[in-house]
Amino acid sequence: AILEDAEYVLSRMVGVHMDITDRKTAETELRFHSEILRNIAEGIHLTRVQDGIMVYTNPTLERMFGYAAGELLGKHVSVLNAPTVQDPMTIANQIMNGLSETGMWEGEVQNIRKDGTMFWSRGAISQYEHAQFGQVWITVQQDITERKLAEAALHIKDSAIQTTITAIAIADLDGHLTYVNPAFVKMWKLAGEAEALGRSVLDFWEEPQAAQSVTQSIQDAGSYHGQMIARAADGSNLQVDLAASVVYDPDGRPICMMGSFHDVTQRYQAEQLQLEQERLKANLRKEKEFNRLVQKAVSALSHDVRTPLTVISNAKDLLDRYYDRMDEEKRREKLDSIGKQLHFVVQILNDMSLTVKGTLDQRPFEPAPIHLATLCKVSLDEVRESVGANHHLTFVADDTIQVVYIDETLISRILLNLLSNAIKFSPEQSEICLELSRSGKWIVIRVRDEGIGISETALPLIFEPFYRAEEVQKIGGTGLGLNIVKECVERHNGRIHVASQIGKGAVFTVELPLIEAY
Ligand code: ADP
Repeated sequence: AILEDAEYVLSRMVGVHMDITDRKTAETELRFHSEILRNIAEGIHLTRVQDGIMVYTNPTLERMFGYAAGELLGKHVSVLNAPTVQDPMTIANQIMNGLSETGMWEGEVQNIRKDGTMFWSRGAISQYEHAQFGQVWITVQQDITERKLAEAALHIKDSAIQTTITAIAIADLDGHLTYVNPAFVKMWKLAGEAEALGRSVLDFWEEPQAAQSVTQSIQDAGSYHGQMIARAADGSNLQVDLAASVVYDPDGRPICMMGSFHDVTQRYQAEQLQLEQERLKANLRKEKEFNRLVQKAVSALSHDVRTPLTVISNAKDLLDRYYDRMDEEKRREKLDSIGKQLHFVVQILNDMSLTVKGTLDQRPFEPAPIHLATLCKVSLDEVRESVGANHHLTFVADDTIQVVYIDETLISRILLNLLSNAIKFSPEQSEICLELSRSGKWIVIRVRDEGIGISETALPLIFEPFYRAEEVQKIGGTGLGLNIVKECVERHNGRIHVASQIGKGAVFTVELPLIEAY
């Protein structure tokens, strides 16, 4: 009966509300209570305040802690406490001290089973004056291991989201941000998450229209993966790889949208540069081939020039030697022949310059956004591979020139001609430097060599077609290269000049109007 009395109290404590209409006898009621205590999902024990000894344990508690029926009775309550940072006795004492002050305790504790395994429980303790045991603590405990595990898993996920370098954002179905992680704040260069929360997701992209259609497709298809250009708080742009999806509740109703973002700007730029480099290289090869064909045509024509020149030279010889012996008609005949052949020569030369210039003039001037430093580098590599293996070729660029509007074909002709001249007219192992820089509104391309240089007399003539200086007669060439270069520069509304002294190398400077693409 004493026990049953306790059980009655306990059943009230654990909140078992009974609707007993048939309260005929106290006995029936008590039996009913002890039945509840035996089957209830909570573990229950009664502990003497005086010495901490357990005097009642229900079957659920025994099961929970892995003890046989009655095995816990007479044991100190601390056997149920797991040793954590503190030993079980200290924990038990702390709880009991707390209880003495307020008469109530509620909290979560780590417990230990008989077999040594640990688990978490939530307990509520209150004081009761028992007829047999005097002052006792009544403890009701619930195993919360599963909830704790779920909480821990959640915590791990939470801190993973907080620490990951992947930017993560959650938005409501209307597209307003409800959560952003620190990586998001950093990627978009925000002062803090408050700057993002509540704002429309469209605000964070360079083209809100594109962002709008992406948001639409997330809502329509449930998910999206692709790249977009983001606009950071400081106005800078970044290429972002984004994966977004709608989050559904267990019943399949959409609750929010979430997205994860990677900054792929550097990778993207490197890829773009690589593509640009390959494209420029391919075009440059074509350009070189064109140069080769022109050279070939020009040498064929130069060969043709020899025949009329021989005729001229013979006629002149005859005139020199037999002038006095010739009658007027004979002299006239020779002079006519010279005149005719000269005409021939002029025609051949015209043909040559037409071959070269024609191909230039037929081409429309087509400026397009080009990464000029890459074009310079590719041209230098190309020249190095073909003729410059024995020279030290260097490329110096300040980063002020990026993507600019130029006609790539014309500029590569300029670069190829200037660089191959520099190689042709300077000794092996000497330095040749290609420089790219900016001067106000001008792009400056400069080619320096340490070669034979150009004499004062030759300087004003080198851009004329077919002009070749005295000192270079033994070196191959057509005298057309610089004329082409000048033409290409003028097409860009640019200017070219040269500084040189005989024996001291040459510096060719090309200036082009700077029109930046972005
Ligand atoms: P080519 O190179 O076929 O002779 P160009 O028109 O390219 O014809 O050059 C014209 C002339 O200018 C050359 O023959 C040479 O006398 C002079 N020249 C051009 N570039 C240089 C240079 N880097 N150093 C010395 N002389 C040069």
